[in-house]
Amino acid sequence: MGDFNIPLRIGVELLIVRNQPKCCPGRNIIQQSYNVVIIGGGVAGLFCGLMLQDLPKVLLLEKTNCLGQKLLLSGNGQCNFTHAGEMKEFYGHYGENGKFLKNAFNTLSNNDLIRFFEKLGVDILIRDDLKVFPESLKASDILNAITPKIEYKINHCLSKILEITNDFISIEVTNNDITHTLRTKYLVLCTGGASYPETGSTGDIIKLLKDIKTKDFIPTLVAPDIEGEYKFVWQAFAGINFPAAKMSLWRGDKRILNSCGSLLFTHKGLSGPLILDNSRYYEPNDALIIYLSQHTDKKEFEKQLLELMKKNPKKKKRKFSRAGT
Ligand SMILES: Cc1cc2nc3c(=O)[nH]c(=O)nc-3n(C[C@H](O)[C@H](O)[C@H](O)COP(=O)(O)OP(=O)(O)OC[C@H]3O[C@@H](n4cnc5c(N)ncnc54)[C@H](O)[C@@H]3O)c2cc1C
Repeated sequence: MGDFNIPLRIGVELLIVRNQPKCCPGRNIIQQSYNVVIIGGGVAGLFCGLMLQDLPKVLLLEKTNCLGQKLLLSGNGQCNFTHAGEMKEFYGHYGENGKFLKNAFNTLSNNDLIRFFEKLGVDILIRDDLKVFPESLKASDILNAITPKIEYKINHCLSKILEITNDFISIEVTNNDITHTLRTKYLVLCTGGASYPETGSTGDIIKLLKDIKTKDFIPTLVAPDIEGEYKFVWQAFAGINFPAAKMSLWRGDKRILNSCGSLLFTHKGLSGPLILDNSRYYEPNDALIIYLSQHTDKKEFEKQLLELMKKNPKKKKRKFSRAGT
């Protein structure tokens, strides 16, 4: 990692913390020092660990009993980890954040990432639609290529940021009800958002950061739930993808945006690229108006729906009739 430029201050590891937390029952204080502590063993944390693998004293901490739980779910367990299209097409998919991300994309492009995983021994599949997967179509192949290269501890949760000085950051970590104190020169938070709490990304880190007065966070990349009287009607569509849906987002009587793309019904509500890509713009009490089809004729729409159902053979017809749609 020749271009990694962390100024190493060896002496810092011998410093005695002046504000040592007081010892209390159930609290076992072990003071250890690291150059970098990465919090969160999801995609971002694992990749960060991989990038820092040649640096001494780097530790990744994951609060659940398993690394990369969301990674293992990604792309239906197959892990669609990038797209082989032109790099310049990527930026537009991130709205106004595209500009901000340009630098990152130039540092590690889609082709760099493909080559990177090939070097790690993962055979790659590029589908006709240019989506890129491990050839085995198993997300676990990506995870298994990364984990041997990093030092990590599972069942270790960052529970408090104790102290931030110019030289170090002191954190409290909980493992099986035992609390440790670690000290690190750099703390990297890769704890995901608040979506899909079953995978460990519960958003509790946001509360920790509020305690140390960082900026406010707004949820993005969220799939809205459908509530109210129509909930059960739409549940009948769960699993059906409408490839050419249109939506407009309204705030009061002001239209915020128009967009079109692929929309997926889930058991709870709406998902798919159309819904997720635009979710950075949603605010409480906004309204979404959605057109599932370009057909205004009921018969034509039914015909289209039956075709979409055929593409999703697991979907049972009786569910549709129950919903009366
Ligand atoms: C069903 C599904 C399918 C997807 N498919 C794709 C796909 O095909 N392609 C694609 O590019 N993206 C896909 N994504 C999105 C992708 O999985 C996420 O963007 C990615 O996992 C986010 O990575 P992350 O590291 O930021 O967060 P996460 O993967 O959520 O990881 C955060 C980690 O931090 C840990 N953590 C949280 N708090 C603490 C704490 N206090 N202490 C210690 N550890 C903590 C959590 O347990 C978790 O392991 C999919 C997502 C889902 C849910």
